[in-house]
Amino acid sequence: MGLSESDLFSVDNALEMILVFDRKGIISYANHVAKKKLGYDSDLHGVHIKEVFPNTFQMAEEGFATEYTFGNETQNLVAYRKNLTCFPVEAKIMDSVSHPGTYICMANDILEKEFLSREIEQVRQEAQQALKVKSEFVANVTHELRTPVNGILGNVKDLLDDVEGMDHRTVKSLRLIERCCGDMHKIINNILDFSKLEAGKFTLEPRSFHFRNMLDYVKSKHISKITEKGLGFFMTVSPQIPEYIIGDELRIGQILDNLLSNALKFTSVGKITLEVIRTAQVNDKVELFFIVSDSGIGIDKGDKDKLFQSFSQVDASISRKYGGTGLGLNICKQLVELMGGRIEVESEKNKGSTFSFSLWAGVSEEDKNAVAQLGEMPASLLHESSTEEEEKFENIRRYGTPENKENLKKNLSKLILCVEMENWEKAEMFMETIRHLTEEAPQEVKRVVLRLKMAIQKENYDKVTAGYAELSQML
Ligand code: ADP
Repeated sequence: MGLSESDLFSVDNALEMILVFDRKGIISYANHVAKKKLGYDSDLHGVHIKEVFPNTFQMAEEGFATEYTFGNETQNLVAYRKNLTCFPVEAKIMDSVSHPGTYICMANDILEKEFLSREIEQVRQEAQQALKVKSEFVANVTHELRTPVNGILGNVKDLLDDVEGMDHRTVKSLRLIERCCGDMHKIINNILDFSKLEAGKFTLEPRSFHFRNMLDYVKSKHISKITEKGLGFFMTVSPQIPEYIIGDELRIGQILDNLLSNALKFTSVGKITLEVIRTAQVNDKVELFFIVSDSGIGIDKGDKDKLFQSFSQVDASISRKYGGTGLGLNICKQLVELMGGRIEVESEKNKGSTFSFSLWAGVSEEDKNAVAQLGEMPASLLHESSTEEEEKFENIRRYGTPENKENLKKNLSKLILCVEMENWEKAEMFMETIRHLTEEAPQEVKRVVLRLKMAIQKENYDKVTAGYAELSQML
């Protein structure tokens, strides 16, 4: 047939049947699959093509006659075996370009192809089912784990509210239990998010929210530990960013939370900074760019790629010393990508790390014009002074200020909305914010907050609505 040795090798081992025949209809070459499927050995050579496709080819004086149109198009034919049984094939028969007067037939067994695709579909469905069972199992287990952890945490917090008369050791133990429960809570939530993301069941819930309030809240969760460690914290937010943006507030907060707690975990001297800038605006969408920097232990060049993989920690000694599951950054990466952005890291060993990520958020109509005007302001005016920032944050945190009340009311109404929709998981998150905002509140308010929290953990609708009404009245 005039093929080179390597051509012959690949044709011979092709997965489809290949037959070459001449003007007379005589088969001059058949590959391994063709011989096997048609039930011949080397005796297929020399057989007339009409023996293989009797419905398509007839014997004729000039060799063969056919109504089949040769070309690149696939057609359905019936192939006959040597023992005269037959099977349907999808075939292409073409004139050989390099060997005029020779024809090449390539054919696939339709039944086998269908069988294979049915098998593939079955394997796919089985894998999907297994993944579903696994994620349901993980979701159930984590939910079951969360309830007792929350129960312990709630009771410990209750005890810690009134430490008078307790000896130093008891208070210390209670604080340790509180911290352990908090850590366990974080791990459980991470596993739950990870399994949902892995199963493709994760959906973002974008809505309009006050961007700086979200940042202030994230900051409020870390500032006391940052100060305790003697580290500096600086936050700059470009005023080009609209007051309200449309995005998933909880998930953006979660990414920042994770990056800030890593920065805090791996830094013992120096400072942590958080900067947010607007990098692009297209119609009613803005691209935001977040930068979280620390002056901590840093990451080796070779380890940078491993960071965003699941269950990956730089090395075992680090995880022993600092703890963690290695899921945080993988979840951050997946969340950032769902928001149309990217996450990256720059780091130098023993000098510090900078994690940055971008995401796209929506802008509400009123904010669009304001953003356009701010775009023309000189760069020197684009940074809020950090004392103003600090003051604003303090006002939100300090119980009883108008800012604090406004925030509390907003979170309460979000909480009750989640409860109405039976989204207990989300309600718990708003509850956590309310708890933070009432840390300095009088005992009677704190007691109602605690009751409300317990009712949410127990998913008790009546008690939640009662607690909600009581707290709303107190505000
Ligand atoms: P974990 O929940 O265990 O902290 P992450 O996915 O958040 O998991 O982080 C994975 C690993 O990346 C950490 O164990 C640590 O080795 C490294 N890492 C993350 N952030 C920093 C940082 N700011 N400085 C140094 N190492 C970091």
